[in-house]
Amino acid sequence: MELLSNSLLELITQTSTNLPPDVRAAMSLAGASETPATQSAQALDIILGNIDMACDDEGPICQDTGMPTFFVHTPIGVNQIKIRKAIQDAVAEATRRGKLRPNSVDSITGENSGNNLGEETPVIHFDQWEDNEIEVKLLLKGGGCENKNIQYSLPCNLDHLGRADRNLAGVRKCILHSVWQAQGQGCSPGALGVCIGSDRAHGYDLAKQQLFRTLDDENPNPQLAKLEAEIMEEANRLGVGAMGFGGKVSLIGCKITAANRLPASFFVSVAYDCWAFRRLGVRLDAASGAITSWLYRDPERPVERVARGEGFPLTGREVILTPPLSEEVVRALQVGDVVLIRGEVFTGRDNVHSYLMKNPPPVDLRGAVLYHCGPVMLKQGDEWVVKAAGPTTSSREEPYQGDIIRRYGVRAVVGKGGMGPRTLAALKDAGAVYLNAIGGAAQYYARTVEKVLGVYMMEFGIPEAMWHLRVRDFAAIVTMDASGNSLHADVEKVTGEALAALEEA
Ligand code: SF4
Repeated sequence: MELLSNSLLELITQTSTNLPPDVRAAMSLAGASETPATQSAQALDIILGNIDMACDDEGPICQDTGMPTFFVHTPIGVNQIKIRKAIQDAVAEATRRGKLRPNSVDSITGENSGNNLGEETPVIHFDQWEDNEIEVKLLLKGGGCENKNIQYSLPCNLDHLGRADRNLAGVRKCILHSVWQAQGQGCSPGALGVCIGSDRAHGYDLAKQQLFRTLDDENPNPQLAKLEAEIMEEANRLGVGAMGFGGKVSLIGCKITAANRLPASFFVSVAYDCWAFRRLGVRLDAASGAITSWLYRDPERPVERVARGEGFPLTGREVILTPPLSEEVVRALQVGDVVLIRGEVFTGRDNVHSYLMKNPPPVDLRGAVLYHCGPVMLKQGDEWVVKAAGPTTSSREEPYQGDIIRRYGVRAVVGKGGMGPRTLAALKDAGAVYLNAIGGAAQYYARTVEKVLGVYMMEFGIPEAMWHLRVRDFAAIVTMDASGNSLHADVEKVTGEALAALEEA
């Protein structure tokens, strides 16, 4: 049992910290394909550097280590109850070691269990097979991309594409729409698992299982193979780009399956995964629990490095921001400016925003930088240490952000994926900016933290607490400015036109 738990702990650790070779190859190609010196190319530079850093230090690739989802095959006669317990033990231990962020929240009370265990977490699917060994596959898929999963019920009408009928042409429209609607919020470039048919629940399950195919495989069904190739070509003409900044690479994979359906239903279910596409697997000796081989990777082969230089290439044109920020400094910033933050920032995400709507902040936020981030933190002695600290999806704070900016004098909000018109109006009125950090680049941003200065609201749990950090050269791009400009709105519009053009062609 102990050997089994150790094998599973190694599976979790490797999955969280070391992207598989097929994903590395696809991301490397994405970096090489992007136009140099564009915002997407800058984002990819940070992403590629982050992939190597995570592997070098065995730290989480992204701070959002997601909902651990296991698919297990066991020989007939193997005790699945023991395997479930071993998985739970390994998940708790990986969390204690900072390889997984405590992500399991009671949906009624809001309480974080602190160890990633709770009702139906982790997710474990069991199947039997005729093989003598146990196979365990693991997918770690974070909330930002999970929130961009989408399901279509055909026939339906789609933005920019018109009616999607109950045929493969309609399916194609749905899949292209799924890439467009995600924009940068799911940390593009992304990968899709798609299921045509089945029912609502199982369709999503089958779509997610497609993410266990390697990115370079070929669909055995020729019609689906053709559709996958078409989607890859067309989606990468939309221009969403890395992080939704506009660019050439929006998708690194599209894997499609089909399942029978009811005559009355025709669902297309799409599981959108981000560039931090973490999936691995092991085969285990059924008697001892020892790893006999790995899936998706060969541990004997050296890990191929993907970084193209020293992470984020500086040009000398970056704007240095030293909080607290004045209105004058902030109003001078424009969409497209690259900033380097030097000084103090405060993290805050869903619970902090909800709290601030009803209560005054525990610190003075005038001129402050508010970072949408739920970090992975470990206490070493009396000191908190940041293990991973990338941005979270900002759009969740759209109902609150404008009020908080106006009420407390926040001058810069940092996150990913952009925000909507209410926030944009508040930025303009109050004199503030939205800074897009690079989603998933958790190791890169963790290294910018010089010191953890304090923490407030720990009752919300580690990811939701308000962390007070001192950072140095924290890079981000101004994507919404105080003059009412939004790169996100612009890219959404242009890519919508590109979507419509695909249909007309
Ligand atoms: S890379 Fe982005 S979408 Fe993926 S888990 Fe991290 S924050 Fe979420």
